[in-house]
Amino acid sequence: MDNKVYDCVIIGGGAAGLYCAARLGRTFFSNKRFLLLEAGPRAGRKLALTGSGRCNLTNTNIDTSRYNTDDPEKLASCLNRYGCTEASDFYENVLGVVLEKKGDLVYPSTFKSSTVVDALRFYISDHAIHTEFKERVVSITEEKNIFEIKTESGRKFMSRNVVIATGGITYPSTGSTGDVNNILDKLTDESCFIPFRPALTSLSSDIAGIKGLAGIRCRGDVKIIDGNGTVRDKSEGEILFTKEGGISGICVMDVSDTAVGLLEDGDDKVRAVLNLTGKSAGEICQMIYIRRQMYANRTCADALSGMLLRNITEFVMKQMNLKSDKMTLRDLNDKQVAELANLLCAFPVPVTGYGGTDKAQVSSGGFKLSKLDDNMQTNDIPGLYVIGEAVNCNGICGGYNLQWAWTSAALAAEGISGNV
Ligand SMILES: Cc1cc2nc3c(=O)[nH]c(=O)nc-3n(C[C@H](O)[C@H](O)[C@H](O)COP(=O)(O)OP(=O)(O)OC[C@H]3O[C@@H](n4cnc5c(N)ncnc54)[C@H](O)[C@@H]3O)c2cc1C
Repeated sequence: MDNKVYDCVIIGGGAAGLYCAARLGRTFFSNKRFLLLEAGPRAGRKLALTGSGRCNLTNTNIDTSRYNTDDPEKLASCLNRYGCTEASDFYENVLGVVLEKKGDLVYPSTFKSSTVVDALRFYISDHAIHTEFKERVVSITEEKNIFEIKTESGRKFMSRNVVIATGGITYPSTGSTGDVNNILDKLTDESCFIPFRPALTSLSSDIAGIKGLAGIRCRGDVKIIDGNGTVRDKSEGEILFTKEGGISGICVMDVSDTAVGLLEDGDDKVRAVLNLTGKSAGEICQMIYIRRQMYANRTCADALSGMLLRNITEFVMKQMNLKSDKMTLRDLNDKQVAELANLLCAFPVPVTGYGGTDKAQVSSGGFKLSKLDDNMQTNDIPGLYVIGEAVNCNGICGGYNLQWAWTSAALAAEGISGNV
């Protein structure tokens, strides 16, 4: 047993845990006892992978409606109190990271996530916040306002405040294995949790021929339609066909949480309806008519190759039982042109599954935001905080999820500063 009583122990050295430690370090310098416990051999392993190694750390235009949480009002108030401006200010003026914008997306100007991980690590070390690696916390108990934290290696730590920053369930190789509810099972009950499941992931389909499109990217939009025919979510951007036989890309990932939720609720008629052209069916019809006059004797695949990828033409015409490499455009009658245009702009892909925890970028589920106060302290247990992806709050791609890590971490640090 470590006989010290810490002022705060942070569990998890990912984006949220590191940021919380840095905010505490800024407030108190080294006159308090803080400890960070990390299960893995080093901190920020998932943070290092973000933004394809470039780390899209926030977004100047955060739309709170693009988050999924059980308490949207609290989320909006949290992001109002500590949002992109505050996080960018801390990065630039305290952690010394020069930022650069690409549209609404904010990156370190080095476009290297290691810049962000290092800035947090160095700042924490400068402020004498001790980190213990390879210490996976397995349980927490509380007596007389002191928490006892046990790790897998058998060590015990005592603290007046505890911050759970153990992340969700995705990319478990980075250490995030959904530990929050196990760690807290002696202090809270199941009503505090929504089960974790993958979000921001690919969708799979068993539709014939889809594997042949592997690697193809096109600009368009996607709608998620439930078994009753209601549009439940939509997004636009780049669609990527995967080698496993499915669809991905940012706009698909952004609506995947809705599709996964429907599948998990037992809806076996979920469809992703794809516009593979970025245009309306009327516009596509007109474009095909013009080409039919200009290139009447070419095969459909050749005649349309200036406006559509050949594999897309072939795939869509196959669904109409037509062969794009055999039929000339002249052979396509007006009804078939209209059908082709409609299919290109609203291609139904039955969704039969989704990418698991090793493919998804974030998790939905976790500790309910409604069970936390405005500073991420649990409503029932003073001194116990939950932040980052361990909280039931996940957003779309584009810096939304890291912004939530910074926001929740900063608010928890602010709360703790009033407690120690
Ligand atoms: C490939 C990829 C790309 C992404 N790109 C972006 C992006 O560009 N922009 C964006 O906004 N978001 C992005 N995200 C999402 C973002 O990385 C997460 O939302 C964010 O890392 C969550 O931070 P966190 O600290 O809550 O959890 P994590 O980063 O998962 O950290 C949790 C930490 O807790 C530790 N831990 C877990 N259990 C225990 C335990 N029992 N005891 C001690 N330690 C424990 C883990 O080892 C880990 O270090 C991406 C995610 C992935 C996978």
